[in-house]
Formats: sequence, C-alpha cells, structure tokens
Amino acid sequence: MILKDIDEIKKIRNSAQLVSKTLGIMAKEIKPGITSLYLDKIAEEFIRDNNAIPGFKGYNNFPNTLCISVNNQVVHGIPCNKPLDDGDIISIDCGVINEGYYGDHAYTFEVGEVDKNIKELLDVTKKSLYQGIDAMIENNRIGDIGNAIQNYINLHGYGIVRELVGHGLGKNLHEEPEVPNYGKKGTGKIIKNGLVLAIEPMVNMGTEKISLDTDGWTIVTLDGKSSAHFEHDIALINGKPEILSTFDFIYDALGIKSDEEKRFKNFFI
Ligand code: MG
Ligand code: MG
Repeated sequence: MILKDIDEIKKIRNSAQLVSKTLGIMAKEIKPGITSLYLDKIAEEFIRDNNAIPGFKGYNNFPNTLCISVNNQVVHGIPCNKPLDDGDIISIDCGVINEGYYGDHAYTFEVGEVDKNIKELLDVTKKSLYQGIDAMIENNRIGDIGNAIQNYINLHGYGIVRELVGHGLGKNLHEEPEVPNYGKKGTGKIIKNGLVLAIEPMVNMGTEKISLDTDGWTIVTLDGKSSAHFEHDIALINGKPEILSTFDFIYDALGIKSDEEKRFKNFFI
C-alpha cells in the first residue's frame, strides 16, 4: 500500500478534477441521437487542451479516451458509432494523467427519459458509493468499505459485480489495495492517512453475473439487464475521507442541487 504526502494528493486531486470537468462537459452533450464516439472525441480534445494525457488510451491497448458502457454493458465499453436512444443509460469512466499522477472517476448518465426502475438503480448505486466512502476512516479496514456498499445494495436486491473492484490510485492507475464492493467488516488491510482510493461500485439490476463481449473489452451483464457504475477518488487526510473528484460539474450542467459530497470536503475548500 503506497501512502501519499499532501503534495502528491494535490496532484492526484488536480487530475481527478480534470476528469470531473470532462464529465461535466459530457453531461451537457449527452442526448438521444449522439454517439459515444463523438463524446470520446470531445473528451480527448478537452483533456489535451488542458495539457494532460488521456489515462486509458493505450492502457493495456485500450483504444479510446473514455470507457463508455450503455445499458447492459457494465464497464470497459468501447466508444462506437451507434446513436444513443431515449431511455438509455450511459456509464462514462474517464482517466487522465497530469504531472505523473492519475485521476479516475465515473458517472452513469440518463439519456432522455429513463424508466423509473432504472433511475432507482442509478440512485441506489450512487448512494452505495457514499456509504463506502463513509467507511474509509483511519484504522478501519478495506473490508469495511466493501461491507458498507454491500449492505446498502443488498437492501435493494441488486447484483454486485464481484470480478471488478476499486483500487489504490497514484502514479499508477491501479495500485494496491484492491477494494471489492463486498466484504466482511474488520477484514483486509488497515486504512491509513495518505491512502488514496478509487471506490467504484458496479451494480446490476438483475444477476451479479457478467461476461466478456466478443470485442475482448466490454463487460456485459449475463441476463442482459441494466448496470450502473459510479466512481470517486478519495484520500484519507487527518483520519477522514477527503473527496478529490466531484460530480458538481455534472450537477451544474444538469441543474441538479446536491450536497451529497459536503461531508467529504474538509481539507480542500
Ligand atoms: Mg474508472
Ligand atoms: Mg477505477
């Protein structure tokens, strides 16, 4: 487990905030009829205009700037030319490298008018992320984070993806420790000041089971039902979780008022 000093955390925060701004631009652009490839193009331009590098492009040979996963696609979707439909949901995961440090976060957007059951899936998945962040306190363990997410999701009967997990974040996109979205209280590594995590529940409407699409990248639900994905980058500072990424740019674009991140903003104002 690599612990970071405040200087490094500031750099990760800069990268995370650039991802947040990119997602804010996505929020303005998403509507029925546009393609995920179009979103990918403007995201890449925006990141490069800000003197940063798209973090996913070329990572394990991934071809694009964004992972864009629609409806039954869970994560790692490849942007394509298929127009989005009214009622779709679209998970956008974005990474950047700036000053040698990664930011990595994700949001699931609604396209046009979305069915209320699917809205509920998005709402619950996002809330489970904050349950996980609440458990990221000094001397808790990694298993406490997964346990908090799992307990919340189980109340709603959704499927938690097991094979894909959150992770440490820093000079590398994926660092130790792995952060599963399920787990037992009091198990796993001890959480210490300077730890930076990407916490990212992936939650399916139906079965937790997934499979790999023939493109070799896209993860899809086995039953074809929808899946949601929300991810934040968080540092432990002064014993408390400090959120480095933000959904505020998305909410500004969509006219949503939210104070969901307020309790995780203490160190950086
Ligand atoms: Mg991500
Ligand atoms: Mg991640």
